[in-house]
Amino acid sequence: MNVILLGAPGAGKGTQAEKIIAAYGLAHVSTGDILRKAVADGTLLGLEAKRYMDAGELVPDAVVIGLVESRIAEPDAESGFILDGFPRTEAQAEALDGALSEMGERIDAVVSIDVDPRVIVERLTSRRTCKACKKIHSLIADPPADPGTCDACGGELYQRDDDTEATVRNRLDVYERATAPLIDYYRDKALLHAIDGDRPVDVVFADVRAALGV
Ligand code: AMP
Repeated sequence: MNVILLGAPGAGKGTQAEKIIAAYGLAHVSTGDILRKAVADGTLLGLEAKRYMDAGELVPDAVVIGLVESRIAEPDAESGFILDGFPRTEAQAEALDGALSEMGERIDAVVSIDVDPRVIVERLTSRRTCKACKKIHSLIADPPADPGTCDACGGELYQRDDDTEATVRNRLDVYERATAPLIDYYRDKALLHAIDGDRPVDVVFADVRAALGV
């Protein structure tokens, strides 16, 4: 099964992706994670991507499409994958369709997680990620006992460079302009399942499961 998770930054795609992966054993393909790793490793790609990411802008299509094409060709993606944060533009969606049909594959479902932008600004500016295990915490919704330490593994929590308020607002504008039109793109292909993401994680996940039909 190949799944796309759509939704604004902060809608809960990463959290739902973790749960889907645990339940169905799909490969996790997060372009944000791939790009952040390139930045942390100081590669040429990372240096190029960082200036877009810090401004809340999209990394150019050609760069991201190339990354995804090679990632979904890796062995662990053979039995199914979940795309988290990709596609984000119509050009990316069309390139994905082309790459999949060449591989004899297709997208089985697109899950769109919908959350009001006002809720998102609060969520993202209070989001902290564990450096070690990558678990996502909220200083508001599930505050860790110590604000700097991961409850799950004791690792150090940090705030993403692009989770500051000004950058979050720009990321939301970019989402509305470039990515939201993909909702119609996939609705027209009868693949879309829209889910209200402004509810507790497990309630949202129950709807995700029902949408995936497994
Ligand atoms: P995310 O973790 O998915 O919110 O992505 C963080 C940042 O990485 C975004 O704000 C973009 O700068 C960049 N990025 C991630 N995925 C894409 C994509 N599919 N297309 C362009 N830029 C992306």
